[in-house]
This record gives sequence, C-alpha cells and structure tokens, in this order.
Amino acid sequence: MTPLIDEKVEPILKEVLDRNPGEVEFHQAVREVLESLGPVLVKHPEFAEHKIIERICEPERQIIFRVPWVDDKGNVQINRGFRVEFNSALGPYKGGLRFHPSVYLGIIKFLGFEQVFKNALSGLPIGGGKGGSDFDPKGKSDAEVMRFCQSFMTELYRHIGEHTDVPAGDIGVGGREIGYMFGQYKRITNRWEAGVMTGKGLDWGGSLVRTEATGYGAAFFVDEMLKVRNDSFEGKTCVVSGSGNVAIYTMEKIDELGGKTVACSDSNGYIYDEKGIDLELVKQIKEIERRRISTYIDVHKDAKYIAKGNIWEIPCQVAMPSATQNEINGKDAILLLKNGCIAVGEGANMPTTPKGVKAFLEAEIAYGPGKAANAGGVATSALEMQQNARRDSWTFKHTENRLREIMQTIHQNCYETAEEFGTPGNYVNGANCAGFIKVAKAMVAFGVI
Ligand code: NDP
Repeated sequence: MTPLIDEKVEPILKEVLDRNPGEVEFHQAVREVLESLGPVLVKHPEFAEHKIIERICEPERQIIFRVPWVDDKGNVQINRGFRVEFNSALGPYKGGLRFHPSVYLGIIKFLGFEQVFKNALSGLPIGGGKGGSDFDPKGKSDAEVMRFCQSFMTELYRHIGEHTDVPAGDIGVGGREIGYMFGQYKRITNRWEAGVMTGKGLDWGGSLVRTEATGYGAAFFVDEMLKVRNDSFEGKTCVVSGSGNVAIYTMEKIDELGGKTVACSDSNGYIYDEKGIDLELVKQIKEIERRRISTYIDVHKDAKYIAKGNIWEIPCQVAMPSATQNEINGKDAILLLKNGCIAVGEGANMPTTPKGVKAFLEAEIAYGPGKAANAGGVATSALEMQQNARRDSWTFKHTENRLREIMQTIHQNCYETAEEFGTPGNYVNGANCAGFIKVAKAMVAFGVI
C-alpha cells in the first residue's frame, strides 16, 4: 500500500512546495520522504516540537555562481554553477557535482535532499550536499572541459574544504573532471588537501573501488533483498539502463554474482544483446573512446540497437535503472511487472516516478530505492576520506569487503525500520525513516541552529 500523507505533515509539505515554486524534482523528492514520516512523529513527538521536518527541508546554504570560460574557437561561454549545502548535522556536506544541460536549482536541491538521508544511512560521519552546472561536457574537447572546470573551481574553492564540504562526481563528472578541479583547487589554495574531493585518481589520493563502488553497491543491495526471499542473482536476466559509471559497474557485479545483463543504454537509445552485454566493449566505447553506445553493434552484429527505444520493454527479472531521474514511469513499471520483474535496484537517484513506485510497492516486489541502493558510492567516498586522513591506502579486496559490509548494514537497517513502522518489506519507508531519525536526533541535540 502506498502511504497517505499524515495530517501533521501535510501542511509542512504545502509550505515547502509554496516556498520553492517550479522546482518539481525537489517537490517530488520531499513528498516521497514526507509521506513516510507520519508514524515517526507519533513515536518521536520531540521532532515536531523542534520543527525538524521544516528545518530539514530548507538547505543550510545555497550558492549560485557565474562560470565564464572560453571555447576552442575563442568565444566566451557562460554557464551557471551551483552548490547546495543541505545539511551538516552528521558531518561535512558530502555529495557529487553534476554537469548536464538539464541542471537547474530544482535538480540540485532534489539531489542534495536525497543525499542527506542516503549519507545518514551509510552510517558514516557525512552530511549532505550536491552541486553542478548546466554545462554539457559531451562533444567538448579536453581543453574546453579543463577550462570550464578551472573556472568552476575558481568560485567553488572558497566554499569547500575537508572539514566543510567535500564534492565528488555524478553525471558528466568522472576522473577527468575531478582531476582538473582538484588541480585548480591545489593551485589557488596552495594546499595539497586530499580530503577536499573524492573520486580522485589512484596516483594522487584516490581510493581503490571508488570507481566501481556505486554500481557494485547497488548489485550488493539487490543481492541482499533477494537473499531475504531465499533467492539470488544466479541465472537471472537483468536490464541496466545507462552506460556510464554506475551502469558499467552494476553490470560487472551482476556478472560476478551469476546474473546476465542483456540490455543497457545511453540517452540516444539502447542495446539488446541476448547473449549478454560484452562489458569490455562497453568500457572501451564509453570510458576510453567516449563514443555512443550505438557503436556496440559495429562489433556485435547480432546485437540490436534501438534508437529512442524504451529499454524497459525488454523482459527481465531484475531491473537496475542507472541513468537519470524519472526514467521509469507508471506504465514502464507495470510493463516490467507483467514481464516477470521481481526486483528493482536503483543505481540512479529517483529514477522511478511516484506512479512507478506505487506499482512496485503494491506488487510487493523487492524494490530498493536509490537513497539506499546507491549509497555505496558515497560510502566509499567516505572510506577515501578516511584513507586520506590517515595517509593510508587500502587494498581492493579490503575496500570491497568494507563496501559489502556497509551495503549489508544499510539493507538490514532499512528492512528492520520498515518492520518497526508497520510496513514490512517496504524499503522506501525503511530508508526514509531510518535516515531521517538519525539526522533528526543530531539536530535536536544541537538546538535551534
Ligand atoms: P555518467 O555520466 O557516468 O553516466 C550517465 C549515463 O546515463 C549515461 O549513459 C548517459 O547517457 C545516461 N543519461 C544521463 N542523463 C540522461 C537522460 N536525461 N536521459 C537518458 N539517459 C541519460 O553518470 P553516473 O553513472 O555517475 O550517474 C548515473 C546515475 O547514478 C545518476 O542518477 C546519478 O545521480 C546516480 N548516482 C551516481 C553516483 C556515482 O558515484 N557516480 C552515486 C550515486 C548515484 P549519455 O551519455 O547519452 O548522456
């Protein structure tokens, strides 16, 4: 059953929507969390007394800035930069930077809001924030990306620091962009401050497994949900949307756990390869050559490329949306269920629309929402910060084991919290309530700040 909004929470939601007009993704993210919180207020009346929900929905600080840069033809370009420092109750603000033309304040706020609860669930000492720009790295030369990143950091540097705010990557921001930004931060501040950013290269303060972490973590989370149902990935047909960082390492771990991914995509279309996606080829196309996924069929002539197609039409038992927000709508969800889908693990943030979520919850499949299922990325970022603080570097195996334990703990926490609040098996409620309670307790302890 989809929860109805509690009568004490409803006016708070209305106020948030009125105060933030036009920010539809932020509205969606807030509504989804607030729908879970009625029973929490019954158990913890002090949260209402301290106006925790009202405070948690208002970012601590929002920074918007101009990012001017010069393209290869000598033309001046102007983009807009954002950093929303949402909540620092549990530690320094932590969350990625997204470079994509669709970015505006409403996207960054939805991502920052989700990040607060996700980071709380990770069990690590990190607050929540998010940033980015409407810059599109696609089709830009390395030199253009470098000049943009340097200009972006020329403003951002004054707001971040290892104890203040620690950015990382997200859509359009990978190792290359982190390198340019970290280099500019080092130059401006004259400090080699490893802990100021995560997702760094392995030769200069990065952590093994950070690249793989979100995808591996999402697959581990699904594995845990399946285990509860006495099931596993073994022999399962899987569909993974996207073909970026999260999608690639989700597919890699699915393979290792005995599943088979038959389809993946980019924003132009999807590939269907019933023999199983050739992951080394996808890595070559996407990570090295930065080309379109359509070129996959130049090598595998028996695979199919469907331009502008809907990847969720492909029958699968496990679906792992790993591209972007709202990529599974209500109709897609119903189609997935009809085709035999029994588990959904969200690598992306908020990839399922409210109608889609409702369909998954009503069908009582194993549905792992992004703020729980994709927390492995930020958790491993926090492990990178730990290694930086100790000037240490852990082995791949050790770091992966830590990631796996963290995902098991997050799963258990969500599972038990869902039961505690009377909705067993509902990981949405479990994640929302567990994340919220942790942040709320710290906020009560700090007084009105
Ligand atoms: P990447 O930029 O590496 O890859 C994004 C992939 O999704 C690409 O294949 C891209 O296709 C596709 N995509 C992006 N936007 C759209 C769109 N509007 N419509 C259709 N396809 C789209 O990003 P990540 O893999 O890092 O991020 C993917 C998702 O995972 C995001 O929701 C992100 O917030 C989330 N996430 C990422 C984490 C991380 O550690 N990187 C951590 C937690 C969550 P194309 O190349 O054509 O644009």
